[in-house]
Amino acid sequence: MKTLNDFNFQNKKALIRVDFNVPLNDEFQVTDATRIVSAKPTIIKILEDGGSCVLMSHLGRPKGVQDEFSLKHIIPKIEDILGVEVKFASDCVGPEAEEKANALQPGEILLLENLRFHEEETKGDRDFAEQLSKLGDIYVNDAFGTAHRAHASTTIVADFFPENKCFGLLLAQEIESIKKVMEDGEKPVLAVLGGAKVSSKITVIENILDKVDHLIIGGGMTFTFIKAQGGKIGDSICEDDKMELALDILKQAEAKGVKIHLPVDVVAADDFSNTANTQICDVTAIPDGWQGLDAGPKSRENFDAVVNQCKTILWNGPLGVFELETFSKGTIALGDSIANATKNGAFSLVGGGDSVAAVKQFGFENKVSYVSTGGGAMLESLEGKILPGIAAILN
Ligand code: AMP
Repeated sequence: MKTLNDFNFQNKKALIRVDFNVPLNDEFQVTDATRIVSAKPTIIKILEDGGSCVLMSHLGRPKGVQDEFSLKHIIPKIEDILGVEVKFASDCVGPEAEEKANALQPGEILLLENLRFHEEETKGDRDFAEQLSKLGDIYVNDAFGTAHRAHASTTIVADFFPENKCFGLLLAQEIESIKKVMEDGEKPVLAVLGGAKVSSKITVIENILDKVDHLIIGGGMTFTFIKAQGGKIGDSICEDDKMELALDILKQAEAKGVKIHLPVDVVAADDFSNTANTQICDVTAIPDGWQGLDAGPKSRENFDAVVNQCKTILWNGPLGVFELETFSKGTIALGDSIANATKNGAFSLVGGGDSVAAVKQFGFENKVSYVSTGGGAMLESLEGKILPGIAAILN
């Protein structure tokens, strides 16, 4: 696996795919700069080695050229974070980009305009990728968030750098973290899978059964399993067409010696709102007109015991409707348990969409071992897929 450390960047131009797809407010100010901060170590390392950086990224999902999606809006934020002036090319390919890239001196940074202003980017167009490839001597992929896409800048462009391509520090760290759970995890290994639906996590569950000793299933997924086993789930969310699959998963887990832990009690509500009436119910006896929206106190205690006996922990998906304070306690308790296990030496990886949001919202970010920057990319990795952006560097 080639990383930055395999290259001498002195007097070289690094063409770096970063993920600067950051959220902006109405005044085009960056409201969460995590992704820029995450790319900083790679950029600074190359500059300090005496190289220069040509940065390319997408922002949002523009239809053609749309000023609101211009990367020029985020230049002040990038300069602020990196402490280096950022030059800008108003098109990511063509004469202006080539001239500015050619003129770049060691220690300098050039940011290219939004890659997705050209539809060739998402189509993975080869000619477009070749034009991009003219802008650097060494291709560096540091964008885990788009590594599951075979786009021109994430995958195809690597073909034009048969020897001179490598992972950036962020992407290398993502790969290492996933490997630490999926391949080299110190036992016992635990996965916590929450979130809304069984259907969106089914491939993850099936793949993960070969990797873990314990699996906690929480959140809305719970009820498909409970109903399939004959429990009464009231008005809780359920995918009836996945009940057979749920029973099959339980059977597979037993055959593989994986211990599955489901909630035993829930916070049930008579409405999907913060001000709903609530009661604690046995998970198999939820009255009609009530829906389970969070893990109950006994479940939290059980999960705490499981988490604290494990040495490797993966967390994907909240245990309840954490966006509503009334139903956030299960997710917060799990975060506390994982933070505690981490303090006691476990390796913990949090990845995939909403669990990352929850970890940030409740302040667990620095209390777990690693928080992944990729949503879809993380899920596909957990499904056991080799991501095209990663394969392109390895091949
Ligand atoms: P996912 O994207 O699949 O990880 O799902 C995350 C979403 O699941 C969050 O928006 C949660 O509010 C939601 N969720 C978690 N638990 C429940 C539940 N018991 N009932 C309904 N939605 C839930």
